[in-house]
Amino acid sequence: MDDISEETFEEIKRLISLKKITICETCDNIFSYVPQKKFCDDCMREKKNAQKRKWREENREKEAARKRKYYEENREKERARKRKYYEENREKELARKRKYREENREKERARHRKYCEENREEINARRRARYHANKEK
Ligand SMILES: [Zn+2]
Repeated sequence: MDDISEETFEEIKRLISLKKITICETCDNIFSYVPQKKFCDDCMREKKNAQKRKWREENREKEAARKRKYYEENREKERARKRKYYEENREKELARKRKYREENREKERARHRKYCEENREEINARRRARYHANKEK
């Protein structure tokens, strides 16, 4: 308090007791008196932000769990919604897939080749079965 004279200090104390002003509890800013208000606007803002941040952090897990729960409980509805979306956007979706295939032709081909190699027995068996079925017709 060396830059505030004794008089000013007394004046401040007087104004505080008259509920004209308040000194911020965290930064010593002086602001006009408002009932229950203990902090200046800057500190209030800072506190609120910190609170929001804290809330978000504490509720991130909760929010994710809530969404998961909602999805579990509305699985049919969600599935129907997706189906509806797909039906309404069939052309767009098909175009998107076509585009993806064209852009990833090599990758797709490699994937197919890998699948064939890994399932050779099964594919051959299916082919044989189809062949025999056709012969019997
Ligand atoms: Zn303050």
